[in-house]
Amino acid sequence: MTVSRRKFLKIVASSGGALVASGVPLAPQAQARVSTVLPPQATGLLYDATLCVGCKACMVNCKTQNSVPGGALYKSGWPMPPYENGDIKLNNGIWDAPRELSGKTLNIIKVYKNGSAEVKDRAINGYAFFKQQCLHCVSPACVSVCPAGAFRKDPVNGAVYYLADRCIGCRYCQLACPFGVPRYEWDSAWPEVRKCQLCRHRQAEGKIAACAEACPTGATIFGKVLDLREEAKRRQALRPGDEYPFPIQKVGARETTLRPIAHYTDGIYGLVEAGGTQNLMLSGVPFELLGFGRNIAKYDLPRLTWAYIAKIPWVFLGVFVGGTAIYKMTHRNDKEG
Ligand code: SF4
Ligand code: SF4
Ligand code: SF4
Repeated sequence: MTVSRRKFLKIVASSGGALVASGVPLAPQAQARVSTVLPPQATGLLYDATLCVGCKACMVNCKTQNSVPGGALYKSGWPMPPYENGDIKLNNGIWDAPRELSGKTLNIIKVYKNGSAEVKDRAINGYAFFKQQCLHCVSPACVSVCPAGAFRKDPVNGAVYYLADRCIGCRYCQLACPFGVPRYEWDSAWPEVRKCQLCRHRQAEGKIAACAEACPTGATIFGKVLDLREEAKRRQALRPGDEYPFPIQKVGARETTLRPIAHYTDGIYGLVEAGGTQNLMLSGVPFELLGFGRNIAKYDLPRLTWAYIAKIPWVFLGVFVGGTAIYKMTHRNDKEG
């Protein structure tokens, strides 16, 4: 037996709004362990910050292709546009310039600046662009903690996706994600959790991720994770100044742009973090300066969350008590050096 979102809310309401609904068996998917193995056909993105020019074409196409509001030209309020829930208030649906991931923004380009910000991709007196979105963990903590089976991992392409009809609104997924990705639609009467789903609907049609499709420089490319890992390693093995044919849109693409290799900071973000992620990142500026923690656990987090979840006799003992425990487990390294 499974519990739908509507049924769950009915149960909670009939118990006077208390967060206890004892004796309710949950969806079988929630009780399945999360695989720690990368599916051989898994797909993902490689974002190379040294190629990014900050044009935000990736954000616009993400919004267009995933039916989230977007557009340009905020006419009213210029030069300071009115903000609404972290996003610039939309005007004629042509543009927006969100400041954070949100229920309306699944992918965001931000800017790092230091000192005089003269040189691109340099930590001191430099600047850099960087991209935030779901990293599609190989073994996702969000899937492992969802008691309703609303978060799932595609067994073929590995995309971590969300079924709104199953969601009971506990937001364990938000607490469990070590990268702080899932966002809740606080301004909606019937809120859902929103995050990048690796354009799973487009992949089903044989298309690539919309952000990679729109990127003019090849800063964001789509492909099989195993190929993306090799591509990232090849770039890191070259010396600054060497010329390299960077593929555009997808790894191995024939359309390339010949450019000198920039200086890369150590490591490929996503190779080992949280046990590995399907989206990877290269950068000239150390990842920690961009807000990507290097102290994220290097093993799959569900081994911790599952140990906790498995002890719950599948009754709601208290959403907030459980949520706090999950948050502490998946962020246990946050304060370590
Ligand atoms: S980054 Fe967060 S939301 Fe995305 S798959 Fe990993 S745990 Fe889930
Ligand atoms: S993969 Fe799709 S949903 Fe995810 S950030 Fe790119 S365009 Fe947006
Ligand atoms: S489309 Fe490409 S170059 Fe433009 S902001 Fe996005 S990642 Fe950077």
